Amino acid sequence: SQRALQDIRYAHPVTRDGVEIELLANIELPDDTALALAQGAAGIGLFRSEFLFLRDEDDLPTEDEQFDAYRQVAESMQGHAVVIRTIDLGKDKIPKWQEESDSPNPALGLTGIRLCMAETQLFRTQLRALLRASAYGKIKLLVPMLSNLNEVRQTRRHLEEIKEQLAAEGLPFDAEIELGGMIEVPAAALTVGAFLKQLDFVSIGTNDLIQYTLAVDRNDDAVSYLHDPLHPAVIHLLHHVITTADRIGKPVAMCGEMAGDPQLTTLLLALGLRRFSMLPAQLLKVKRRILDADLERLQQAVPALLLAEDANAVRTLLADL
Ligand code: PEP
Ligand code: MG
Repeated sequence: SQRALQDIRYAHPVTRDGVEIELLANIELPDDTALALAQGAAGIGLFRSEFLFLRDEDDLPTEDEQFDAYRQVAESMQGHAVVIRTIDLGKDKIPKWQEESDSPNPALGLTGIRLCMAETQLFRTQLRALLRASAYGKIKLLVPMLSNLNEVRQTRRHLEEIKEQLAAEGLPFDAEIELGGMIEVPAAALTVGAFLKQLDFVSIGTNDLIQYTLAVDRNDDAVSYLHDPLHPAVIHLLHHVITTADRIGKPVAMCGEMAGDPQLTTLLLALGLRRFSMLPAQLLKVKRRILDADLERLQQAVPALLLAEDANAVRTLLADL
């Protein structure tokens, strides 16, 4: 039953056997929330805040400018949760002021949370702006490129110190603000249980997880044929992360491009994923797959999926889902 996309714009994302699925939007700039709402997103699953830092060649956004942007996103989402990722620069996104760095391999260098650990002033200014904005909506924090538990501990330490500052200044903020982590490095995927003890939720970044698991640069055309979300190594990591989070009882979402590919929706549902975040333009296409899905039937395919020896074997199984 291929329903017209317009017909399902206001339909609730629930499977045929009645399981509710959360459909969230990925955004890059505050104004993108309008599109997210128009496409029926139940919240923002990934606001790539680093785009605020790429806008102006010479100047970093000030604390107040950041506060305005985060507050705008939180308020425009009308009470829906907004997951704001802390600065994820380095690697593919390199601003002018960072170009001096002569890292031999930026993808394995000072990127994501690592850059923020090295540039504490940059990080703390952002955390202050985020905490101040958290008084105006439901903001959750998401830390990118985690590979080591110390990164979580240090982030919590910064957060607690800044909360004390704000309280002393009499500025409002959400004292219970949630802290989540991106699972996009294989080391974090394999040890996700330890991360989840210290985090409130995780979100799987498949773009990088595939890149690092398969040793395939995500922006190198010469090897793009190897950047395959159906490689069994990727399937096993996804299964491990999702089932571990379920066992521990903490939310797991996916915000990499896999989550927005309607051809992969049934696979992800089978693996147990219940929270998807994607470009707004993908939301209705994925929702249609969810409305047609029978979870009980999909789950029966998991043992065979985990035994598949290569991506083609996974693809063959998928064709029958
Ligand atoms: C990812 O790596 O899957 C992700 C969502 O983050 P980005 O694409 O911004 O690196
Ligand atoms: Mg990433």
